[in-house]
Amino acid sequence: MNLSERDQQYNWHPYTQHKTAQPHIAIAKGEGALLWDENGKEYIDAIASWWVNPYGHSNRFIADAIYKQLTTLEHVLFGGFTHEPAVQVAEKLIPMLPDNQKKLFYSDNGSTAVEIALKVALQFFYNKGERRTKIIAFENAFHGDTFAAMAASGISFFTEAFKGSLIEVVRIPVPTNGHEKASYAALEQLVKTEEFACFIFEPLVQGAAGMVMYEATELDKLMALCQKHQVFTIADEVMTGFGKTGMNFACGYLTEQPDMMCLSKALTGGTIPMAITSFTQELFDGFYDDDVNKALFHGHTFTANPTGCAAALASMQLLESDAMQQNIQRVNAKHLVFQQKIQKHPRVATTRVLGVIFALEIKTDGAESYYGSFRNKLYAFFIDKGVILRPIGNIVYVLPPYSISDTQLEKIYQIIEEALTEC
Ligand SMILES: *Cc1c(COP(=O)(O)O)cnc(C)c1O
Repeated sequence: MNLSERDQQYNWHPYTQHKTAQPHIAIAKGEGALLWDENGKEYIDAIASWWVNPYGHSNRFIADAIYKQLTTLEHVLFGGFTHEPAVQVAEKLIPMLPDNQKKLFYSDNGSTAVEIALKVALQFFYNKGERRTKIIAFENAFHGDTFAAMAASGISFFTEAFKGSLIEVVRIPVPTNGHEKASYAALEQLVKTEEFACFIFEPLVQGAAGMVMYEATELDKLMALCQKHQVFTIADEVMTGFGKTGMNFACGYLTEQPDMMCLSKALTGGTIPMAITSFTQELFDGFYDDDVNKALFHGHTFTANPTGCAAALASMQLLESDAMQQNIQRVNAKHLVFQQKIQKHPRVATTRVLGVIFALEIKTDGAESYYGSFRNKLYAFFIDKGVILRPIGNIVYVLPPYSISDTQLEKIYQIIEEALTEC
């Protein structure tokens, strides 16, 4: 049996209908933007393995930092104890965040980062004896798959089966072109009721919705409205964080500052699962009391795992290096040139670019479902050609490791162009 067949015996894969799915491709090795399967076939990882890997696969600099930490202190509980890597991550990250972000809480993945933000918003008001028990989110948002994060998510594909068991979320339209007024008006109605604890959003780019983009000025207006009515704002930068939009964080484009931020995915350069939720002093102070019941009773066994922290530190050093900043600019410039060319193609409906993110919507006859047949055809075409792209419905997006070469980028563009005529 090959690896793929051995896998099939036991493993249950994410977002997969095993009855109809193709066998899973067994990847044996990765380097830079490339992956090789067990038969030696080469693939370009054009989506940075679900947006986690900005600095390339099997990165030596991060690997060395991890090894050093593993042989110094691999793990210690964070309840009652602390350690150098956690303190250093905070000292490095806090100055990169908006000025009002003062405290960090560590967890393991994007969904838990969101859970923590939502729990903090809800308990903040509970601690004060105020009843604010609902939350506001965008239509088609994606915030993760655990219960509260799933409730905040608006893509029915992921949440339909659990409708009756979720916390109460009210959705507003995304302020994309033409929907700015509707979005603002909907939010204004809600914040006035004083029933809402927070507004959670993916700043500037809704990743899982298909790299849907909207303007910073519109988000600023929504955030200002929340501030006025004491509704906390949560910027879920799990996807956008650490350089994807061309800035370290999408919030860098804003004049308003969020009350909380959720970080994960690229935090450790795609090496070790870790997440951080950051907070203002005001939120922290809402739990700071002589009464133990007012504390945040939330934690995970691996909270602030030293090895994860060492990986995060090394990753942030790479992000700040001139070479990596130049890579981000280079990828962005290449995307813009390709956009100019491809948007004239008769099968292209729209294109959009922000930082290292490129997205293209293909014209289709009807609405294409998230994991529909057209999408599957595209996916299979790309895999066959040795490029890992996971279209969302009729939307094809590229979000490569920043260190990808020009030649590899050009191959991705070329295969996308071929798909437009062949699929
Ligand atoms: C991926 C993602 C999450 C969930 O992160 P996981 O690590 O998969 O739990 C949350 N929010 C956004 C914006 C994401 O892109």
